[in-house]
Amino acid sequence: MDYPDRFDVIVIGGGHAGTEAALAAARIGAKTLLLTHNIETLGQMSCNPAIGGIGKSHLVKEIDALDGAMARATDRGGIQFRVLNARKGPAVRATRAQADRVLYKAAVRSILENQVNLQIFQQAADDLIMDGEQVAGVVTQTGIRFHAKSVVLTAGTFLGGVIHIGLDNHDGGRAGDPPSIRLAQRLREMPFRVDRLKTGTPPRIDARSVDFSVMEAQPGDTPTPVMSFMGSQDEHPQQVNCFITYTNNRTHDIIRNGLDRSPMYTGVIEGIGPRYCPSIEDKINRFADKDRHQVFVEPEGLTTHELYPNGISTSLPFDVQMELVRSITGFEQAHITRPGYAIEYDFFNPQDLKHTLETRHVPGLFFAGQINGTTGYEEAGAQGLLAGYNAAARSLERDSWYPRRDEAYIGVMVDDLITHGTSEPYRMFTSRAEYRLILREDNADLRLTEKGRQLGLVGDQRWARFEAKREAMEQELQRLRSTWVHPATPEAEQLDSKLKTPLGREYNLADLIKRPELGYADVASLKGEAVEDVQAAEQVEIQLKYSGYIDRQKDEIDQMRRQENTPLPDDFDYEQVSGLSNELKAKLMQQRPATLAQASRIQGMTPAAISLLLVYLKKRH
Ligand code: FAD
Repeated sequence: MDYPDRFDVIVIGGGHAGTEAALAAARIGAKTLLLTHNIETLGQMSCNPAIGGIGKSHLVKEIDALDGAMARATDRGGIQFRVLNARKGPAVRATRAQADRVLYKAAVRSILENQVNLQIFQQAADDLIMDGEQVAGVVTQTGIRFHAKSVVLTAGTFLGGVIHIGLDNHDGGRAGDPPSIRLAQRLREMPFRVDRLKTGTPPRIDARSVDFSVMEAQPGDTPTPVMSFMGSQDEHPQQVNCFITYTNNRTHDIIRNGLDRSPMYTGVIEGIGPRYCPSIEDKINRFADKDRHQVFVEPEGLTTHELYPNGISTSLPFDVQMELVRSITGFEQAHITRPGYAIEYDFFNPQDLKHTLETRHVPGLFFAGQINGTTGYEEAGAQGLLAGYNAAARSLERDSWYPRRDEAYIGVMVDDLITHGTSEPYRMFTSRAEYRLILREDNADLRLTEKGRQLGLVGDQRWARFEAKREAMEQELQRLRSTWVHPATPEAEQLDSKLKTPLGREYNLADLIKRPELGYADVASLKGEAVEDVQAAEQVEIQLKYSGYIDRQKDEIDQMRRQENTPLPDDFDYEQVSGLSNELKAKLMQQRPATLAQASRIQGMTPAAISLLLVYLKKRH
């Protein structure tokens, strides 16, 4: 049957990409349908119940700055929060939260169910409705035809999913969920480049069978960090500890002896797995000289005994899993509640996408999340938000949008994927961004919320909060710059004890904060009152302390933008550019970038090579 209502956007899949896509489309006013296998698994974390971490928290905070759900759900579901790299510079600081998977899922579902313009429907999508070359809707498993102007596909690990435990395998989307076979077949008939990737998960363990007394406890930070710019500690549920233990030589021997029944090492699995989240068998093989590997023992929630032993993801046969788990300190009596497994699935070459995440071959069809070759909830959520916005913008005949590399990690990720494609699961790292000092997790709102408001993504509540913070920051910066401390006054004496040499002349408070020995807390209330807004205070401190570096990076960005539009003529003879490697010449001749900016994104291109092109261009004129 044809469903009577027409939609602007249909999103297939209620995982991390799908939920952000559906919410973003609905937020900007598109009539949206979220079509998913099972309403009970909306926002389900397939693997580790944790959000954020290095590079990833930057994406979460960018989603949040654009009023997405991930950070807010994390604040409501997070049971242990830490800031990683807290002692390093702000560019690489990263908030990470262990979540109660039930509370997290409930928070996502509640945000979805309360979103205006959004309807949810439970059923598998089996096919796409086409109108000529364009997508025009979706056909479900039971033949219901939903019509829409744009469709966002976010099927995660489900397309052609095959689960492996040892040499046994079966079809599955993830443990306990069916795969998407028909839709995968249908997409393989379309002109997309499809390949296989794999990922894996560890066995889960019953906490009642674990001896925590021999493990290192790892509490969360105090005060407890928050993930959302709108978040507060009051929202957090009870906080708990994680623990640390280690594998040992016996564990490694058990694994080595089981490799003849490993689907990875016997060639049964063909897909490439995540390099930065390897299975324990992969780690033993790649780092043969290491006699132990860390295992983070993480609770799956407040109302369950299940533990997630982070670091021993495996697809070895169950008997080997049992033996290896029980060889680990504290796990000698462990009861496994769920076996670890690996999953192979279809993904599409992201080079077949535009920066808006619309596919090049089928107008109106957008891809987001794991199906684009990425791994991780955060990477998926960020793509979902972008695809959802652009799908809705297309249907509502509004301008499309995507952030540049110097504006957001979302921009870095999408540009990396589209320019270079990927042959292994892509995850975000701060090292992928050229402008790390500008793209910090703490300033994601300052980078994106105003744009999000213009696009219609940011609601009134967040906008009001953001404006208040920005105002507080500006006023505080002004106050600090115009408040002076004079030598040999009581204020100066308070500072002298912290300084290497006493103040020899008058300084304003802003300049004092720039000193390495001093911070905002030492200086702000010397004269007048420090700003109450904690986020505004943090921003003021970072902006002052790192102003030199930040300004230099802004200059680089300005220079890059000026070059951005420098055209490279079609007949540019790269052979004539002396100093350029033959490899780069070949790539440039093959790809024929239209501008210097495009050339700069070719893999292997260096700033030195760009300068050579610039010099040659100038000589031609
Ligand atoms: P998913 O979260 O997979 O969501 C897909 C959604 O689409 C599901 O709700 C599904 O029911 C629905 N769906 C699929 N097909 C259809 C259809 N035809 N019709 C209707 N609905 C459909 N990430 C890491 O960063 N590190 C890891 O170590 C890691 N290990 C993993 C191990 C396993 C076993 C699995 C399964 C995943 C692992 N992940 C890991 C990946 C992480 O789970 C994903 O990156 C993330 O969930 C991707 O989000 P997504 O929204 O793209 O897809």
